[in-house]
Amino acid sequence: LKENNARHMWHPMAHPADSLANPPDIIVEGEGVEIVDVDGHRTVDAVGGLWNVNLGYSCQPVKDAIAAQLNKLPYYSTFRGTSNDAVIELSAMLRDFFAPDGLSRAFFTSGGSDSVEIALRLARQYHKIRGEAGRVKFLSLKKGYHGTHTLGASVNGNANFRTQYEPLMPGCYHIPAPYTYRNPFNETDPARLAQFCLAALEDEIRFQGAETIAAFIMEPVLGAGGVIPPHESFMPGVRSLCDKYGILLIADEVITAFGRTGSWSGSRHWGVKPEFMCTAKAITNGYFPFGAVMVADGVAEVFENDKSGKGAIGSGYTYSGHPVGAAAAIACLKETERLQVKNNAAARGAELYEGLLKLADKHEAIGDVRGGHGLMCALELVSDRTSKTPVNKQVIGKVHRVTYENGVMVRVSGNNIIMSPPLVLSQQNVQTILSALDAGFEAIA
Ligand code: PMP
Repeated sequence: LKENNARHMWHPMAHPADSLANPPDIIVEGEGVEIVDVDGHRTVDAVGGLWNVNLGYSCQPVKDAIAAQLNKLPYYSTFRGTSNDAVIELSAMLRDFFAPDGLSRAFFTSGGSDSVEIALRLARQYHKIRGEAGRVKFLSLKKGYHGTHTLGASVNGNANFRTQYEPLMPGCYHIPAPYTYRNPFNETDPARLAQFCLAALEDEIRFQGAETIAAFIMEPVLGAGGVIPPHESFMPGVRSLCDKYGILLIADEVITAFGRTGSWSGSRHWGVKPEFMCTAKAITNGYFPFGAVMVADGVAEVFENDKSGKGAIGSGYTYSGHPVGAAAAIACLKETERLQVKNNAAARGAELYEGLLKLADKHEAIGDVRGGHGLMCALELVSDRTSKTPVNKQVIGKVHRVTYENGVMVRVSGNNIIMSPPLVLSQQNVQTILSALDAGFEAIA
């Protein structure tokens, strides 16, 4: 298996020159919050698949729902007004769940990149229907990640995810993120930094001309960029600026929706109502590729009441509203609610964050600890705390490897170690993660 993996499987994001790529771990089983590799080595999956396996690997109701739907109706399109019973039930459920946020309609997709792409397109279309066709630009945060499609990649804030594909979409501009550890303002106070970043956003809006801007897109807590939670004033401040200048707010909640931050969604966590909310990942616990863009009541009405013909959506996905995905999502959302996993995410997330802060007291290589908002945490590794020089790949690779040998899978992104474990994590699992990381850092001391 290992040989065939190396020979036949392209691991495009893990270049052979990367110390972590050789060999990639081959996972053959999952049970509860644990995964088992081809050598029989069992680890707590502190990555939660890829931020998506919120309910762990043994969620029987979701597995049963998928099997039952496959036997009943394995596929039918929702493309040209046709529908299926599973997706209708799911739409009603989502509407109820998101009613407090004023998000009344769902556009179904096959994953996070699709959700982002559709939200950005719908934002432009919304302005066109309303006679503001000049609103085509997008603003986003540096360090933000919004998937792999062309519009999404264009608003990605990390140049590494953009430059190799350029030219991407023109008209996308990136604002400094409220990243306290490193920012162009040299500001270490999160509240003041939030104000600087909001001022930068307003400057950019004025510079571009508000009448040219369609939407601002942001993750409520930046994920792939290294788990960067903003100060609590930031997202409400963005909302106010969007209102002031007639700009739509797109919350990219591909990671944060359905409990990860300890709240039902990241937007609700910060008390903000966006016009679009992009979801995917945990909506089916990672068991089926699926996503949904939730659309605000007022925006949906503009599309539905349009008499000019501009309100029809020009193209859609073959797999929009896939009945098996919808059945998986229904079961998943019921379990998410029944188990109230957001409460466990908040409690275990606080314990994990506290434990990581203690690890930082002990290990010099930990320059920054981020978390405190549910089960999303990161450690930023530096070779010197004063200069904040990022550690090299070999060093972080060693921490990763030794942590794995000690029973925990974490994720490496640049010089960050990222954790997004299943939300059904136990107190014992938190301790396992902390002691495995401790061993990982001992190995580079
Ligand atoms: N947005 C965010 C915030 C994400 O984290 C991701 C994936 N990590 C995406 C969009 C893209 O989702 P997908 O990989 O399902 O296309």
